[in-house]
Amino acid sequence: MKISKPTMIIDPVKVVKNIKKMAEKTAKAHCLFRPHFKTHQSVEIGHWFRSCGVQAITVSSIDMANFFLADGWQNITVAIVINPRQIEEISVLAKKCRLNLLVDSLPMVALLEKTMPVNVNVWIKIDTGYGRTGIDGNDWHSILEIAKAIDQSAQLSLAGILTHTGQSYSAKGREDLSALYDQVKDKMQMIRNHLHANGLSEVKISLGDTPSCQVCTDFSGIDEIRTGNFIFNDLMQVYLGSCDLQDVAMAVACPVIGKYTSRKQLVIYGGAVHLSKDYVISSAIKIYGLAQPFAQAKFDWRKNENFLIGISQEHSVIQAGEDLLASTKVGDLLYVIPAHSCLTADLLKKYYYIHPTLGCLPIHNLEIDDFKTAL
Ligand code: PLP
Repeated sequence: MKISKPTMIIDPVKVVKNIKKMAEKTAKAHCLFRPHFKTHQSVEIGHWFRSCGVQAITVSSIDMANFFLADGWQNITVAIVINPRQIEEISVLAKKCRLNLLVDSLPMVALLEKTMPVNVNVWIKIDTGYGRTGIDGNDWHSILEIAKAIDQSAQLSLAGILTHTGQSYSAKGREDLSALYDQVKDKMQMIRNHLHANGLSEVKISLGDTPSCQVCTDFSGIDEIRTGNFIFNDLMQVYLGSCDLQDVAMAVACPVIGKYTSRKQLVIYGGAVHLSKDYVISSAIKIYGLAQPFAQAKFDWRKNENFLIGISQEHSVIQAGEDLLASTKVGDLLYVIPAHSCLTADLLKKYYYIHPTLGCLPIHNLEIDDFKTAL
């Protein structure tokens, strides 16, 4: 296929290496790996996870749960607290799979008890500092009250306590991430101990942000990991120090449509509708992505400062270094490592890879066996 517009390219070997690394780390700690599929939202990539032994998944919407259910995934966590306006859809879904739901209030427990046609697993969402949804991790009284209500319901099974350490995206490097992981783990274990002491014996702990989980080397003491972004990584993960540049497994091939030597800038066809407007801050400047020369087949990223410093709906402006400027002309392609791969994948939807002889192909027919030897 000729690449003529912004096209999402993955390196399948790097994707599967990232999956295997996380799967091995969870297996070593006897922890369930329940990856978040909102990052890739792809049936094919789902199959690669299956080939690595994954059977339970996380999604972020009822639609996404139905999408993966249709492909045979039977053990699904919808990792967003109950939306009462979708209770009918949730009830229908509950009859078709082993469903795991999240609550953070007594009224939602009562609603589930009243409406669920079959038994569902219920997790109590805990806020360990991110400040999005969840019961404050210091409010042990409310957590216990909700846990008891779930436990006493015939229709609901208390699965455990679940948190998303989204504040890790504001961390200042690996040490900070490692300290945050330990702090959240301690907090969750203390809550579990409190529930145990009050007669609730079966309480699992579920964590799962990519930055702190990529830095953590030992998941002991945790029952479940729900990372999503780690399969592709991106500029944000590199800047946080949670992965190396070489671990980035997705980029967007973008046509160069402008070259302005006097201001040392290149302009590409590839903007906010392809990459998103997410950014990382470098030297007080917003960076929307990192440009790399377009090379065939395997990704071999080089450290550089060819940053996307401006973005509009369809265009981005690259402040190019001497080498990139000299070697690039209008009509060429450049790879862009996006700031946030989850949003880029959601926008572009279709995955391609570069076959060594056939060039750019969709991943539809690519089986993990096709590239197993390269792993
Ligand atoms: N769990 C929940 C509840 C989330 O909201 C997310 C991501 O937003 C994840 C897990 C996965 O986090 P990450 O994308 O950092 O891997």
